[in-house]
Amino acid sequence: MSSLTIPPPAALLRPLEVPNRYLFGPGPSNVPPRVLAAGGRPIIGHLHPEMYEIMNDIKKGIQYIFQTENNMTISMSGSGHAAMECAVFNTVEPGESVLVAVNGIWGERVAEIAERMGANVHRMVKTPGQLFSNTEIEQAMAKHKPVLFFLTHGESSAGLCHPMDGIGDICQKHNCLFLVDTVASMGAAPIFMDSQKIDILYTGSQKALNSPPGTAPISFNERACDKMFNRKTKPVSYLLDMTHLSNYWVHYHQLCSVYHHTGPVSGFFSLRESLAILAEKGLEESWRQHKELAAYLYKGLEDLGLTLFIRDKDLRLPSVTTIAIPKGYNWRELLVYMMKNHNMEMTGGLGPSIGMVMRIGLMGYNCKKSNADMALHALADALKNCKKSKV
Ligand SMILES: *Cc1c(COP(=O)(O)O)cnc(C)c1O
Repeated sequence: MSSLTIPPPAALLRPLEVPNRYLFGPGPSNVPPRVLAAGGRPIIGHLHPEMYEIMNDIKKGIQYIFQTENNMTISMSGSGHAAMECAVFNTVEPGESVLVAVNGIWGERVAEIAERMGANVHRMVKTPGQLFSNTEIEQAMAKHKPVLFFLTHGESSAGLCHPMDGIGDICQKHNCLFLVDTVASMGAAPIFMDSQKIDILYTGSQKALNSPPGTAPISFNERACDKMFNRKTKPVSYLLDMTHLSNYWVHYHQLCSVYHHTGPVSGFFSLRESLAILAEKGLEESWRQHKELAAYLYKGLEDLGLTLFIRDKDLRLPSVTTIAIPKGYNWRELLVYMMKNHNMEMTGGLGPSIGMVMRIGLMGYNCKKSNADMALHALADALKNCKKSKV
């Protein structure tokens, strides 16, 4: 008789089933075969010399897409949230003041992360999709004297691409670090970490980079390193402590194989490949393609009688387009219809934009006219077949 009281689960005795889907939401996006294949390579040790070569390639790739010369450039082992927490946990000490621009979910998240580690958080709040002027930012900075200011470049919950010019100068003047989230915009819209004086920049793997979820590039400049390596208290997270992560990523040649944690080996293979694709294509070409396809999509959406949520087309995030929920329709019904009949994911809003928008993401590998046509066709079909209510 078996000594086990829990039998093997029947579910695991069936083969894994994963559907093929059009991932036209705000992420994850479809992963090109080349990137999938890279992730399927044999595992090697996370401290083997070949792995360090690959990590070095990744570092160079991140420096390229971020347009930075920062040596402290690594990939987190974790999703975009790991990078958000890493940035805040390492540069802020409990009791210090943090200023957060909230115009969608991402500011809310960072504010909460900063509160959880004991920072004194000040929120500048606007409705989803609204801009912060440099004057407003500077006034709040003068008032709250933050050590860190957070702004989202590509606000994917609202579909806004926030202007960045001049803000880095304001932060320097007020001796505040400038932290920018580019998870949804990296590779799709221009950002220049060094020349825009961004002190800490991060992104994620599964949006326009088209890697599987689970890795997140991040970079710190000298000002950020000065602050985070001269702190009095240790960061609350061992896993996300940049003292350890910098030994793992940046100083490994001197220290030779220091174990901190086991990096996601397959995830790094895939990330390297998606960075290689972007390097081959060229950043400027990638920005151009996203902008051109987005313009094509806007036209198609307007032809369907839909209204784009961000009125000023120069402020729209090219990778994630938001449409106002068409009058009289239940947005959930439209989304379910497209998933069921077209095998296609689009999404509703997120956080404060729930009930305000529907979101279509066409990024990186998915940034093709044929995909925009398919998305428009599915939407047209859903609008025709989902019953319009009286309201
Ligand atoms: C998706 C997204 C994140 C979060 O990334 P995860 O990988 O889901 O943790 C953060 N910021 C923005 C702007 C995003 O679009």
